[in-house]
Amino acid sequence: MLAGKTALVTGGSRGIGAAIALRLAELGADVAITYASAKDRAEEVVGQITATGRRGLAIAADNTDSAALLEAVDRTAAELGGLDILVNNAGIFPSGVIGEVSEEEVDRTLAVHVRAVYLASQAALKHMPEGGRIISIGSNLAERVPFPGVALYAMSKAALLGFTRGAARDLGPRGITVNLVQPGPTDTDMNPAGADGADYQRSITALGHFADPREIAETVAHLASPGARNITGSVITVDGGTNA
Ligand code: NDP
Repeated sequence: MLAGKTALVTGGSRGIGAAIALRLAELGADVAITYASAKDRAEEVVGQITATGRRGLAIAADNTDSAALLEAVDRTAAELGGLDILVNNAGIFPSGVIGEVSEEEVDRTLAVHVRAVYLASQAALKHMPEGGRIISIGSNLAERVPFPGVALYAMSKAALLGFTRGAARDLGPRGITVNLVQPGPTDTDMNPAGADGADYQRSITALGHFADPREIAETVAHLASPGARNITGSVITVDGGTNA
């Protein structure tokens, strides 16, 4: 389905990003991933990608370092021979009620979740042909916030709704689609299904369980596929019905 395509997944060393990178490779794409600090885990993911028979590449690039991020985009295109699919996935989870959160945390969160998404997408466009895909990973909390302590996180993810819709309009004439996937509770290091607070998150889903990261990856894989060529400016929430 993705044979001959190349992809870059930011924050692909763990969790949802690793599952997306592996799924895209299983479907035939060559895949580069970025990571902030987990070099060993990134190399493990590259090992899993190459085990599928595809090419993999791990690049250290913190989303707050725009020079490193833009270099990662260019390096992906140079080493893998183009860039068809960009997945803006890298993320952090700042928490604290308003009044407790520092200015540095505000700046860092907006840099990782908003500024980097815009700049990486802009850089990717230099390489992206017709049929290109920009897919960002937001959060169901962008649209409904059922508990306190996440205003900054929700604000940063809400920016992706505007980005997705606006960029879809800009890039439609080039045949490039731009979409947003909004996970809900998903079992990763960021939000372990066995941690304190997990039962509460389960209780506000409709289905009663966390997602497996591979379930988020399936939605991304569909949006990346040729069959999704008419989906753009769309938001798909994969949250077990939390926002229902
Ligand atoms: P994890 O914490 O498991 O993984 C985060 C990934 O992002 C890692 O690869 C990490 O790299 C990378 N990363 C973190 N900070 C930076 C940075 N500054 N620059 C570059 N890379 C960075 O998170 P998840 O897999 O759970 O989250 C993935 C995305 O899904 C995020 O955008 C998150 O907000 C979103 N999401 C997650 C939900 C959940 O319940 N898990 C729910 C809703 C949305 P390294 O390994 O080097 O640290």
